[in-house]
Amino acid sequence: MKHTIRELARLKIRTLKPYNSARKIGGNGDIWLNANESPFPTKFNLSLKTFNRYPESQPKEVIERYSNYAKLSSNQILVSRGADEAIELLIRTFCEPSVDTVLFSPPTYGMYAVSAESCGVESIQINPLKGWQINLAAIEQQLNKFKLIYLCNPNNPTGNLLNIEDIRTLLKMTMEQKALVIIDESYIEFCPHASITTWIHDYPNLVILRTLSKAFALAGIRCGFALADQDIINLLLKVIAPYPLSIPVADIATQALSEFGITKMRNNVKKIINNRNWLIQALDNCSCVDKVFDSEANYLLVRFHNAPRVFDHLSKKGIILRDQSDHKGLVDCLRITIGTRKECVLVITALQNLNLKRN
Ligand SMILES: *Cc1c(COP(=O)(O)O)cnc(C)c1O
Repeated sequence: MKHTIRELARLKIRTLKPYNSARKIGGNGDIWLNANESPFPTKFNLSLKTFNRYPESQPKEVIERYSNYAKLSSNQILVSRGADEAIELLIRTFCEPSVDTVLFSPPTYGMYAVSAESCGVESIQINPLKGWQINLAAIEQQLNKFKLIYLCNPNNPTGNLLNIEDIRTLLKMTMEQKALVIIDESYIEFCPHASITTWIHDYPNLVILRTLSKAFALAGIRCGFALADQDIINLLLKVIAPYPLSIPVADIATQALSEFGITKMRNNVKKIINNRNWLIQALDNCSCVDKVFDSEANYLLVRFHNAPRVFDHLSKKGIILRDQSDHKGLVDCLRITIGTRKECVLVITALQNLNLKRN
């Protein structure tokens, strides 16, 4: 019977390789530097204590506060169950299964591929240029072939920013071909100068994704945003589940987006950037490190002389990193989330005690 049920599933799902989240990979440790979470927890009190009523579908206060924060009007904002839901929602809204195509440039965030595949939508993968920059020439050759293009800025897992003028060229190029450019700004709080939210007024085909999971230290509540021209938002609103956010989630998000919450987030960002700078210097002095890539986010991509040994050695000490060696071009690379200063020191101490040549 088990066998028959499996065959009831869509063909795409039977062969789907699911997203391997940091939580699923797991590990035994107490220093979690594998999911780009914030190391600074905040306690919240719920203002509402009874939950017999359904929530608002797009909680007004969350939308209003995010619109103040992002300096956009409320009809240019959609709130979702994490940015992940918005990634999939765009595909479900704009892509006809087996007909339309999405484009992205690995190495990048894994959910673009997984969401497309689980929706039965084909994807085109384009190799980026040096420094993981947008390969405009290669994308131009595919014009008319794709409906959506996903770019992550700063990119996960590499940490680099995209050349902003390339994004503009891409927006112009695709506007005539009627494709959407989706810029995933999940880490933009670590480099706010690089945000292009103001461009939403100029480009009706631009979508920006945001989240409270990273700089806002709220990965546990699952809350994200899509920012775009209201025509796009209205289409997404037709497809999104009727009650994507529970009342406690909306309550906590509202508090996090208060003036106090935003100030606190910005202070934490400063601490994380300080820790990142400290960690870069310290890594540069470790003999097992081959290269530390520049990063504008709360993680570092590091190439080691023997990444599997480094990964195991740290994991035995309870320090869990994210292996990136499966990604194209990232052999021997591990991604280290920037934790507290104490966690950064523990990483360095562990690396200094590792002599790769001895065995
Ligand atoms: C973490 C992450 C997300 C997912 O954000 P959620 O709001 O937690 O779903 C989306 N995009 C990128 C690039 C990420 O790193």
